[in-house]
Amino acid sequence: MNSKIWLSSPHMGGNEQKYINEAFAENWVAPLGPNVNEFEIDLKNFLGQNSEIAALSAGTAALHLALIILDVKFGDEVICQSFTFSASANPITYQGATPIFIDSETDTWNICPKMLEQAIEDRISKGKVPKAIIVVHLYGMPAKMDEIITVADRYGIPVLEDAAESLGSSYKGQKCGTFGEMAILSFNGNKIITTSGGGALVCKTPEQKNRAVYLSTQARDHAPHYQHSEIGYNYRMSNICAGIGRGQMEVLDERVQARRANHFFYVELFKEFEGIEVLSEPNEDYFSNHWLSAIVIDQKKAGFGRDDLRLALEAENIESRPLWKPMHLQPVFADCPYYGGAVAEDLFNRGLCLPSGSNLSDADRERIKEVILRFKK
Ligand SMILES: *Cc1c(COP(=O)(O)O)cnc(C)c1O
Repeated sequence: MNSKIWLSSPHMGGNEQKYINEAFAENWVAPLGPNVNEFEIDLKNFLGQNSEIAALSAGTAALHLALIILDVKFGDEVICQSFTFSASANPITYQGATPIFIDSETDTWNICPKMLEQAIEDRISKGKVPKAIIVVHLYGMPAKMDEIITVADRYGIPVLEDAAESLGSSYKGQKCGTFGEMAILSFNGNKIITTSGGGALVCKTPEQKNRAVYLSTQARDHAPHYQHSEIGYNYRMSNICAGIGRGQMEVLDERVQARRANHFFYVELFKEFEGIEVLSEPNEDYFSNHWLSAIVIDQKKAGFGRDDLRLALEAENIESRPLWKPMHLQPVFADCPYYGGAVAEDLFNRGLCLPSGSNLSDADRERIKEVILRFKK
C-alpha cells in the first residue's frame, strides 16, 4: 500500500525544536514564558501593530473568551455563520446564549450579508438585539467584509472574526483577523501553521488583551494569596507549544505559497472537466491562503458524484472529506433559529475537500491526479 496522503498534516519549519530546547534549558515548562511572549510579538508583527494578541490553548478557548469580553450572557443571542466547523458555534452555548444561524452566499461560501441584515431585523422585531456576529473565513477564503461590517455598524453589533482557517489571507489588502472588534486564530495540527494544539485571541486594545490573559489564567486578583472576584479559565498557551509556534511563524509565508500552489494545481487539473467548481477568489479584492482546496461537483454535468471521487481516493490511501455540514442541520443545534435557503446545504451535499497540505510532494500530486483523471469523460 502507498503511504497515506493526508488532507492537511503538520509541516515543521526546522527551528521549532530550537525554541523548545531553550524552554527546557531555562525550565520554562509552563503555560507562560518567553516563547509565549515572543510568539505573540511574531503574530503582532504579522497582523499589524494595531493588533493585541493573547496566545491561548485553542481557537475554541479564544472564541469563548471573546464572547465573554463582548459581554455575551445567559439568554443572549449571537449570530453565527452556519457553514462552518462546530467550534465556531459551541462557545455561544457555553455562555448559555443562543446561536442564530445564517446561510452562505455563493461567491465566497461565507455568511450572506443580505441574510445577515434580514436576520438582525427579524431578531430585533422579536425583541432582542444580537450581541455579536461570528463571521468565518472558511477554507481561507475571506468573507465579504465590506458589506458585513456595513451591516454590523448599522446596528452597532460587534463582529467576531473566526480566522482559524485564514491566517495569511487578506481582503482589499487588509489581513483576515484585523477586521472585527476581535478575531480568533487556531494552531491545531491541521491548520496552516500549528503549535500541536493552540489558538490566539486578536484584540483591538491592550485592555481587552489584559482581560483575556487574566481570564485565561484563572482570573486572579492582585494579592499575595490566591484571591478571585470572577470565574476564571485555564486557557493560556504553554511555553512549549509557543516554541513550536515561533518556528512556524518563520515559514508562514512559504506555507501560504505552498497551499496556494495546491489550489492552482487543482484549478489546472479540473479545467478539462465539466461541472466542477474549485473554490476560487471572486475577484482581486480577495486573497485566500487556500488552507484547504475545495470543489463542488454537479453530478449531471460531471458524470460522477462527490462520493464516487471520495471513495476512489480512499481506495488509493488518499484522504478527502465532504465540506463542513452546516450547523443548522446538526442535531445538536436543531432548535436554533436559522435564516437562509439551501446554499450551505447544497455545498455540503456536493462538495469535497482535497489533499491540501503544504508538505504535499510532486509524487503525491501525481498520485492524486491519476485518480482524478480516471473520472474524465
Ligand atoms: C479549527 C477551527 C476552530 C477551532 O480551533 P481549535 O484550535 O481546534 O479549538 C474554530 N473555527 C474554525 C472555522 C476552525 O476551522
